Amino acid sequence: MERTLSIVKPDGVSGGLIGEVVRRFEKNGIKIAAMKMIHLSRTQAEGFYAVHKERPFFASLTEFMSSGPCLVMVLEGENVIAKNRELMGATDYRKAAEGTIRRDFASDIEKNIVHGSDAPETAAYEIGYFFNQLEIVGK
Ligand code: ATP
Ligand code: MG
Repeated sequence: MERTLSIVKPDGVSGGLIGEVVRRFEKNGIKIAAMKMIHLSRTQAEGFYAVHKERPFFASLTEFMSSGPCLVMVLEGENVIAKNRELMGATDYRKAAEGTIRRDFASDIEKNIVHGSDAPETAAYEIGYFFNQLEIVGK
């Protein structure tokens, strides 16, 4: 059993897409082990995306991520890291496959509705960034 961190980004929350995203996870057999709303400060967003700090889009990305509330979730299931990335679609919504969240709802490479961890190490770091053990159900 694997865990990953999912975020419905500020554009997804303000666009009323929380229910739709959660519905897609549940429909695909993914279990929600934790969830909460959080409005990141700029500093907290910079900490979360520290791996991207040299990228040209870092300032804009962290401003966007701190612009409004996010829904953060711990997802659980077999192969859930890859499965979540598959449901999300490619970073650039124009390259995302039909039927993916980003293809269906994003309209900008930056404001792309959802985040998902990309590997077991990043998943562990990102889950720990938002949740302590008491907030996660299961083992
Ligand atoms: P995420 O980490 O949010 O799940 P990802 O793994 O598909 O998305 P990354 O390469 O990790 O993509 O980029 C992190 C985020 O930075 C993207 O989701 C997007 O919001 C933003 N981003 C990535 N590339 C660009 C770009 N070229 N221009 C603007 N924003 C970008
Ligand atoms: Mg990423």
